Amino acid sequence: MSGFLSKRLSSLIPYTPGEQPKMLDLIKLNTNESPFPPSPKAQKAAAEAAKRLELYPDPQCRRLTQAVASNLGLDPDQVLMTNGSDEILYFAFLAFCDSDTPAVMADITYGFYKVYADLCGVKKNVIPLKDDFTVDVDGFCNAEGTVFLANPNAPTGLLLPLCDVERILSSKPDRVVLVDEAYVDFGGESAIKLLDRYDNLIVTRTFSKSRSMAGARLGFGAASKELIGDLNTVKYSINPYNINSMTMAAGLGVMADEEYTLENCRSIISNREYTCAELKKMGFTLTDSKTNFIFCAHPDVDGSEIYSRLREKGILVRHFDQERIKNHNRITVGSLEQMQSLLKALEEILKEK
Ligand code: PMP
Repeated sequence: MSGFLSKRLSSLIPYTPGEQPKMLDLIKLNTNESPFPPSPKAQKAAAEAAKRLELYPDPQCRRLTQAVASNLGLDPDQVLMTNGSDEILYFAFLAFCDSDTPAVMADITYGFYKVYADLCGVKKNVIPLKDDFTVDVDGFCNAEGTVFLANPNAPTGLLLPLCDVERILSSKPDRVVLVDEAYVDFGGESAIKLLDRYDNLIVTRTFSKSRSMAGARLGFGAASKELIGDLNTVKYSINPYNINSMTMAAGLGVMADEEYTLENCRSIISNREYTCAELKKMGFTLTDSKTNFIFCAHPDVDGSEIYSRLREKGILVRHFDQERIKNHNRITVGSLEQMQSLLKALEEILKEK
């Protein structure tokens, strides 16, 4: 620390991203990326856009916003495109939390919620998940503040039924509820259809997972045009050009290739179901994941040991130190071949035990 850092930030613990290893031969199942390349249409469009980088991108991101809105049956002024969905989350913390309005979140959820709350200097109203890792819906209904709810949740992979999301939305109509749908394309039930009934709802999505564009950084928020207006106030106060031209073009390319995305999602879901069935046969306990990752633990081997033994065998998964989940690992669902290597490695680890 330099000694110049503001007092407000001196105790901030930043988010720890999953490792991006230099060794290319590692099987990388630690950051929930897609095992598939981006759509050829996205690649071609990005390469074309690279020829015009002397110009600023469209700050309103009109064509892409229009494409996303029409895909969801929304008005373009109900959508705000951002630099990954992390950026729309940050905008929402800035716009809808303050010293009187804490951020409501689960104890086990996407780690960035806590970091953004701390960065923005707002209090956290933490509602612990139940013992089976399901969301304490009554806890969320009764809590004061802006709600940040990942659905399906990460790293548990569990889906909260839409009727429960609605209970949270209607419990306090005068507070904002943000539903983070980063993983919704792998078997979730989207809250987008609730937007015309709840003007306190924001739904966020990412192009990083189902659309294979983690490296391009693209996400968005969908909400009433008034909430999107508030979020735009924040955006235009930070970075009007938040989406670069190549990403914008790639986003349009992938939106024009819906069948490619759907086919990849079907593959991931099928690989997930296969892997989960095999893991169960080996004695792992698993949550009923509706995402592109598996959250699992084994009664005979520590989570941290499984993590390190897999790493020695060239397979990278994600382990969290948080007390309640330290025996678990989060394993990204990759290609069938990657999943078979994972299962083989786990079998060896269990046998060696
Ligand atoms: N929400 C959740 C629940 C996530 O797991 C992630 C990915 N780490 C994000 C949001 C952010 O994704 P991105 O910024 O790549 O869109």
